Amino acid sequence: MKKNQYSPESLMMSYGYKASDHQGAVKCPLFQTSTFAFHSASEGKAFFELAYGLREPEAGEEMGMIYSRVNNPNLELAEKRLALWDKADGAAFFASGMAAISTMMFTFLRPNDILLFGSPVYGGTDHFIHHVLPDFGIRTLMFTSLDSEKEILQRLEDTFPGEQPSLIYIETPGNPTNNLIDIEMCARLRNEFVSGRKDCLLAVDNTFLGPVFQRPLEHGADLVVYSATKFISGHSDVIAGACAGRNETIGRLKAMRTFLGSMLDPHSCWLVMRSLETLQIRMERQDASARKVAEYVAQHPKVESVHFLGYLRDDDPQKQIFKKQCLSSGSMISFNIKGGEKEAFRFLDNLTLFKLAVSLGSTESLAEHPATMTHVDVSEEDRQKLGILPNLVRLSIGLEDPEDLIQAVESAFGKV
Ligand SMILES: *Cc1c(COP(=O)(O)O)cnc(C)c1O
Repeated sequence: MKKNQYSPESLMMSYGYKASDHQGAVKCPLFQTSTFAFHSASEGKAFFELAYGLREPEAGEEMGMIYSRVNNPNLELAEKRLALWDKADGAAFFASGMAAISTMMFTFLRPNDILLFGSPVYGGTDHFIHHVLPDFGIRTLMFTSLDSEKEILQRLEDTFPGEQPSLIYIETPGNPTNNLIDIEMCARLRNEFVSGRKDCLLAVDNTFLGPVFQRPLEHGADLVVYSATKFISGHSDVIAGACAGRNETIGRLKAMRTFLGSMLDPHSCWLVMRSLETLQIRMERQDASARKVAEYVAQHPKVESVHFLGYLRDDDPQKQIFKKQCLSSGSMISFNIKGGEKEAFRFLDNLTLFKLAVSLGSTESLAEHPATMTHVDVSEEDRQKLGILPNLVRLSIGLEDPEDLIQAVESAFGKV
């Protein structure tokens, strides 16, 4: 784990970049190029030897640029800066959150391996786990935020006697209900599995709170995973994904990424660097506004219940997890409106200012209906179990004036 004297928000404008190397350009230029010219054939040979791990680098020797599927200055700089937020050795950017998740799973899972995963997870991740991994002979076992450490171990023993998973994958807070899973508990499970014959890694999808309000690596995770489309890019204009972790783990991921071709393109990396400069201030403001909107929603007579991390009761075990691993409640609110799909749709169809769209974590506020949109592919049984009901509405709070957002919500409730 790296230590830097300045905080990430101070370093986002400069870290890893020297203006004097680029004619004084204050911002890192866009390297919109697919390939890089070598000074000499022997230099090209040396870079390839390092890229393929054919020999160790000599003292002070650095690998140069080869080809933008392998490396690119915009990609490398965005990765260095993201790693600062999670205090990780390194990071890797991908073409999307799903590219990060699928590349990660194909890196660390092999046929006959077991994936132990916490549910709910993002709809696309859920589909990948249930419908893609089994075709590759990968076995999966699900648990939820309601299961204890003992119950998870018992279920594993009942389902796959004497066997151990190679990967534990969780999303916390979970999409769309904000359910929390204890990262330290999962790290203890990982430690038990590692002591066996096989290696086991713990990966945490930190899209909802991170990296400003939650740092899973500090709680024992091996890898943190992001849909960087969401808060990290934050302007609804980029699709991107990322992972951060130890050098060895990220190195293996990047090796797989080179051959799947799932890296992020230079222009998107450039946009991500722009966004990283405002990450802290955006997330703080969105967090503060969400508190105000949640407060309004929670007291509304047409609302049955609210799922917001700021509203966990002291006697709720979820509150203990929150206190341990979350630094704030974030800007995702979901709530059950009184009634069913009809009432939820009437609310959504009459909501102004918010965009009726999936995705989250952007400058503009977004609203959607998980049961028929992001989570339509989750089985009916799992949806019931996870509380993804027809009357559930999900809000992502953006940078608008919170009083205006409340006015829009109030007026939409009035039309239900
Ligand atoms: C959106 C999302 C993903 C998938 O990311 P894409 O960038 O859309 O591929 C994964 N996990 C979570 C929690 C998400 O919200």
